[in-house]
Parts: sequence; structure tokens; C-alpha cells
Amino acid sequence: MIMTTLMCGAMAIVMFSVYRSFRQEVHGLGHWCAGLALLVVASILFSTRNVLPEPISIVAANAAMILGIGLSMLGTEKFFGQPLSLRFYWLVCSTGVLGIGWWLIVQPNFSVRVAIFSFAVFLIYARQAQLVILYGERHFSSIFFGVLMVVQACVVLARGAAALLYGGNSVDLTVTGNNASIYLAVANFMALLLTVGFMTMATRRLQDILERRSTHDPLTQVLNRRGFGAVYTREKAKLRRHRRPLALLSIDLDYFKAINDTHGHAVGDQVLTHVAALISSVLRESDCVARFGGEEFIVLMPDTAPHHALKVAERICHLLRHGERQALPACTVSIGAACQASEHEELEQLLSRADAALYLAKENGRDRIEFDVAGLAAVV
Ligand code: GH3
Ligand code: MG
Ligand code: MG
Repeated sequence: MIMTTLMCGAMAIVMFSVYRSFRQEVHGLGHWCAGLALLVVASILFSTRNVLPEPISIVAANAAMILGIGLSMLGTEKFFGQPLSLRFYWLVCSTGVLGIGWWLIVQPNFSVRVAIFSFAVFLIYARQAQLVILYGERHFSSIFFGVLMVVQACVVLARGAAALLYGGNSVDLTVTGNNASIYLAVANFMALLLTVGFMTMATRRLQDILERRSTHDPLTQVLNRRGFGAVYTREKAKLRRHRRPLALLSIDLDYFKAINDTHGHAVGDQVLTHVAALISSVLRESDCVARFGGEEFIVLMPDTAPHHALKVAERICHLLRHGERQALPACTVSIGAACQASEHEELEQLLSRADAALYLAKENGRDRIEFDVAGLAAVV
């Protein structure tokens, strides 16, 4: 019991510090932390059995335990972005606590009490296993946590069944005996493992978020320069193998400074987000768009012939001129297009050719597309 208290206390502290640092990014940590704190309270209440009257200490300890384990379930629901099943939580907790109170005070029966507690927490663990099956990603962290939940659900179910079939003494943790000590050891270990399991999923989520942050633009959610570089390197490797054309568009908003000056920076930001979404909407899954600096976007289109790249560019211009723009100020873009000239050409060269074409589009009056003809002859 002391071991469980210490473990839960230590894990609650770890969870709290993670919660403090990443509560915006990873949801559910707060509920898990509060749940672990309640488990510590439960252990302390259990140890007051000989000091406080039993009906109070036992019922309160069981209540704290069920509520605490239930909070971890709400935390797992939050983690997976699901609505909290508060009605289920209160139903399981209140039925469990009332049942334990009844069979402690009115009709004392230890076996039934153990069974009620076990079935209540079984439902809570089973719900979490279900959440992992439905929403968990196919990754070690989720599988680890899901398997632990299934094992824990089976263990508590077996304990409840044993209490009913063989009587309470077979599962009484305060009596020293083989079954009780095995169960206690497993329970201690599982409490620790379940928290570690959730932390593993949280760490994985955090890793994804940080990785995405380092490769995506926070305003428009398209790739940033770094993310684009990685995609380009991958596509170029494919180009070497399959010798397929690779097209690139350099897109710059026309007179964007005037939009900022007239409507304010916030509206300017909305225009940028709108344009990024509009460009993304006309691309294929294999294409990608990145924001390079202020109001410049780059589109990479693998396996795309020059005439098709031009069609995509025309579609972007057309949609900006005539498409739905959600009460935002009108804006147009100039586009410079270029194709990878050879498998040896570096990104900088390709970009500078597309930029030269873009510069020409600006020179020639904006709201238009220019193709880098110089590189066209050498298209791979
Ligand atoms: P041109 O047609 O020649 O491209 O003219 P322009 O006004 O679009 O180009 P210029 O380079 O003169 O101005 C770009 C403007 O983009 C200036 C800058 O304030 C604005 N800008 C850059 N980054 C952001 C941003 O993140 N949000 C907003 N709202 N504006 C930005
Ligand atoms: Mg501009
Ligand atoms: Mg610019």
C-alpha cells in the first residue's frame, strides 16, 4: 500500500509538471494528474482505517479511488479529443460508492464490496481500451497503452469474479496470502505502467506537434521553408529513379502591402490564410505548397509536365479573380513557373529560375503567369 501511494504520488508530480508545460498541446494531462492525486488520497484514507471509524475511512477511500481512476478515463477521452462521458462517469462512481456503502454499513459483505469495486473500475478501464481501439494511432505508444488497459480490465474483472465465487478472503489485500500479495504486486506495477503508458502516448503526441511546428507555417498551416526542403529532397530522389518531370510555381501576392495598409495587418493575415487554402484546394495529394517568407508561396508538383503546371497556375489565378473570398478584400497573384532542368539541378537554382519568371510576371503588369522558358528545353 505504501509503495502504491509513493508511486502514484511520484507519477502525479511528473504528470503535473508535464501538464504545466504542455497543457495547450496535449489534452487530458490535467485529468490524469488529478486522478493520480486522488489515488494518493485514497491510500492515505485506507491507512486511517484504525483511526477513523471504518464506514467513513473505507467508503471515502473507495470513493476517492473510483473517482480517481474515473478521472484518468476522462483524461484519456480528452486526449483523443472526444466529448467527456460525464454521465457515465458519475453513474459508475455513484453506483459504486453507494453499493460499497450499502454492503459495508447496512448489509456488511466484503465479497460483494470487492465485486462492486472491481466491476466499476472494469467499466472504466474497458472504456479506455475502447478509446484506444477506436481512436489510437497504429503506433507502439498507443498499442502499449491499449494492451495495458485490456490487461488491467481483465485483472480487475477476474478479481471481482473471484470475490463472488470464492469469497472475499481470497482477494482481501489486507490479509497476507498468496493471492492477495500477487494481486497487490500486479496492481502496484500496473498503476505505474498505466501512467507510463499514458505518458508514452502524450510524448508521442508532443513529438508530432513539435515536428509539425518545425516544418509548418503557424499562420497558414502550409509547409515552411524547412518542411519544403525535406519534401523537395524526397521528390528529387524519386525523380532520379523514375525520370519524371518536376514543376515548381513561385507565387507572390500583388500589392499586398496596400491590403495591409488599407485593411490592417489582421485582415492581411486572413488574406494569406485564404490564399494558402485556395492554392492547396487546387493541388493533387502528391503536390505540396509552402510559404516562403511574407506573402510568397511555392508549389511543388512532382510528375507534372509544364503544360499541366500552367493549367494549375491558371486555375489559381482564376479562382482568386472570380472565386468565393468570404468578404475579404480582392487580391491577385503573379506566378513564375519553372521545371527541374536536370537531376543535378539544386533547389536554389530551380527557385531562382522560378523567381526570375515571377519577376517578369510582375514587370509585365501582375495578375499573370510567366514560364521560365530558358529551362524548358532541358526539362527531364
Ligand atoms: P508586389 O506586387 O510588388 O509584390 O507588391 P507587394 O506590396 O505585395 O510587395 P512588398 O514586398 O512591397 O510588400 C509585401 C508586404 O507583405 C509587406 C509586409 O508588411 C507584408 N507582410 C509580410 N509578411 C506578412 C504577414 O505575415 N502578415 C501580413 N499581414 N503581412 C505581411
Ligand atoms: Mg507581393
Ligand atoms: Mg514578395
